[in-house]
Amino acid sequence: MKSIYWFRNDLRLKDNQALNYALNNSDHILFIHIDDTLNNEDSSWGFKRRGKHRSIFMLQGLEELQKDLNAYGHKLNRFVGGAKNIFEGLIKQYKINSVFCEAIFAHEEQEKEKSIMELGVTIHAHFQSSLYMPEDLPFKVNDLPDTFTQFRNKIEAEGIVPEDPVVLSERIKEILPIFIVKENLSLPTFTEDYVNSSFPISDKKFKGGERNANLYIHHYFKSKYPETYKLTRNNLMGIECSTKFSPWLSLGFISPNQIYKALKEYERKNTANESTYWIFFELLWRDYFRFLFMKYGGEKFYKKGLGLSNDNFQHDEKKFIAWKDSRTPSSFINAGMNELNQTGFLSNRMRQIVASYLVNELGCDWRAGAAWFESQLIDYDVYSNYGNWSYISGFGTDPRGGRHFNTEKQKSIYDQSGAYESKWGKP
Ligand SMILES: Cc1cc2nc3c(=O)[nH]c(=O)nc-3n(C[C@H](O)[C@H](O)[C@H](O)COP(=O)(O)OP(=O)(O)OC[C@H]3O[C@@H](n4cnc5c(N)ncnc54)[C@H](O)[C@@H]3O)c2cc1C
Repeated sequence: MKSIYWFRNDLRLKDNQALNYALNNSDHILFIHIDDTLNNEDSSWGFKRRGKHRSIFMLQGLEELQKDLNAYGHKLNRFVGGAKNIFEGLIKQYKINSVFCEAIFAHEEQEKEKSIMELGVTIHAHFQSSLYMPEDLPFKVNDLPDTFTQFRNKIEAEGIVPEDPVVLSERIKEILPIFIVKENLSLPTFTEDYVNSSFPISDKKFKGGERNANLYIHHYFKSKYPETYKLTRNNLMGIECSTKFSPWLSLGFISPNQIYKALKEYERKNTANESTYWIFFELLWRDYFRFLFMKYGGEKFYKKGLGLSNDNFQHDEKKFIAWKDSRTPSSFINAGMNELNQTGFLSNRMRQIVASYLVNELGCDWRAGAAWFESQLIDYDVYSNYGNWSYISGFGTDPRGGRHFNTEKQKSIYDQSGAYESKWGKP
């Protein structure tokens, strides 16, 4: 059987079940990656869907994946353009029977899977980006509790342990490769200056790719930071205050199960305390948003949140542009937006503060804010981004109906010395 393995947000060889299925069930294999966001296409909000921060990180990771596949005598065939057209050409030319990939339960991603199915091949899409698999849950995904606390309590009450990471199938050494000589690729280049301005990329150990992800996780769990994570996670600045796992998780350079395993080893060898537990707790939030998408369907989620709140959207385009360009009346908010735009990263606390400000103080549509985050964040993840935005704006499952942060109060707690504002206050 001739198959395509389509790398999506799972840019790694280790702990990749979908990849192993492909290897174990095919005779010939063609590895592909499709970048359908590079040249595109402004979002409906009038700006690029993916800015440079994430592009650089992704390109670094793709180069590494290419090297890793080369070491097994394979090649990563890279394409830029629309998925359906690319698949159509490949299926015809190489007489492909099956497509294997990870499943992504968000609207556009599901539409792509459907459009490939219409080309007459079998598509095996395997969901694998969460810590717990849907079949491990003590309830059906459709019965997922609507509050995070109930979800967590049910998981913990059953004592369910996440699966161990899987090793790469040995079949990769025997399976016959399919090569494409000519690719339709015109990749951008980024100047050293630009790379250096991106956080976390500016620090050498924060480069994209599977190897760097593993090195970083190793480095993090060699330190003492996990022991104090809960006390420092809300700080606005500092690499060490939170784990900084999200960029690698978002592109699948590492899996949550690999991180969980490293966390448990850390606890065994060092200390298990409230802080180390809290790293697991936050990974559960990540899972929770994934299962919410599965339960409610990506399209509904994107359009209205969960529809659990009223459906009236208000929006003020001028105020939105001032927010995204760091020109609001609040110098604290402007500092946050500067940091996001210059580096592609913001602490969780600052994400919450600027999101609440856009929705509550400026009266703008949460979806515009989520789209700007999608464009700028190095760790953009469809579930976590749209999940958190809808939660904060009251269109999600927050039992309090959304969060309204008092900007000045937040500043007085989290930037008492003014250090954050003075670092990021200038565009
Ligand atoms: C408006 C808004 C938008 C967001 N958009 C994204 C996004 O696009 N991609 C993304 O990965 N995270 C997003 N988050 C969640 C969170 O802010 C980041 O995961 C976190 O700041 C990343 O830094 P860290 O890895 O140091 O996190 P840590 O605090 O060290 O947490 C460890 C891991 O737990 C997970 N996690 C932590 N908090 C959350 C959360 N609230 N929701 C889901 N998972 C969480 C992440 O995978 C993170 O890497 C968003 C939060 C808000 C409020």
